[in-house]
Amino acid sequence: MSKIAYVNGQYLSHSLAKVHIEDRGYQFADGVYEVIAIHEGKFLGEKGHLNRLAHSLEALRIDWPMDKRPLSMVMREVRRRNRVRNGLLYLQITRGVAPRDHAFPNPSVSTLVITVTKRPAIDKAELLAGIEIITTPDLRWKRRDIKSISLLPNVLAKQAAIEAGAQEAWQVDEKGFVTEGSATNAWIVTKSGELITRDAGEEILNGITRLAILEAVQDQDIKLLYRPFSVTEARDAREAFISSSNSHVRAVTKIDGKAIGNGLAGELTRRLLDIYMEFMEGEGGPQQEARWN
Ligand code: PLP
Repeated sequence: MSKIAYVNGQYLSHSLAKVHIEDRGYQFADGVYEVIAIHEGKFLGEKGHLNRLAHSLEALRIDWPMDKRPLSMVMREVRRRNRVRNGLLYLQITRGVAPRDHAFPNPSVSTLVITVTKRPAIDKAELLAGIEIITTPDLRWKRRDIKSISLLPNVLAKQAAIEAGAQEAWQVDEKGFVTEGSATNAWIVTKSGELITRDAGEEILNGITRLAILEAVQDQDIKLLYRPFSVTEARDAREAFISSSNSHVRAVTKIDGKAIGNGLAGELTRRLLDIYMEFMEGEGGPQQEARWN
């Protein structure tokens, strides 16, 4: 069965799905995107993803290609046509096709592309096997809360990780504090057992997985602190992990070559993966409205 993509109102075979060479996404990275996990036939955190999409579009003054409700229906149709039970949905909206000029075209017609990819079902053992990360300077712009398709610094950070034999890179601001991964949020657990995540401002992308974890731990006996942490603090942490729609809760067992804790997934990380899975399977994602700045 060939893969089906959605492009501006049409369901097309993947190999025939195309956008114009003068699409502003191609020429200026003038667009936004979302990646949504499909778990046992269900979108995880759909509401949160669509709310964040609204935030990104509004911040960049890009028009919705259609309302949220029909968009949700198209997402379901792409999932259905590709018969995906476990995988990822990718959705991209750009400011559309126009003769190349930096200023916004007027009028503009947004381009919408949706694809889905099959992935193996969530494997807790694999997520807890742990990955190695490196740290690297954060080269990005100042509006990281916008899920922009302009990802060059993230691409370079991830490539640096791969070339160092690691799997992810934590980007570090000019003060020596970790912002986030190339495509994941960064978390640590201190020696005294506090769970630390950086506050969501314009410095990081407010991950939907991050929001789900935060909501899921509300009624748990876990001390949670919103604050930046330095690379030194991360290397000395008892536990570390990353979160994203692709990685859910994934243990970090080495930072810059140094083992974290005893070099295995930590106790709280294991517990959080269980809590997160239970929460997502129950309610399907964060119900609270996030603070999108
Ligand atoms: N931070 C960055 C830079 C990302 O690209 C992503 C996901 O792509 C995340 C964090 C995690 O976000 P989410 O949990 O919504 O997938």
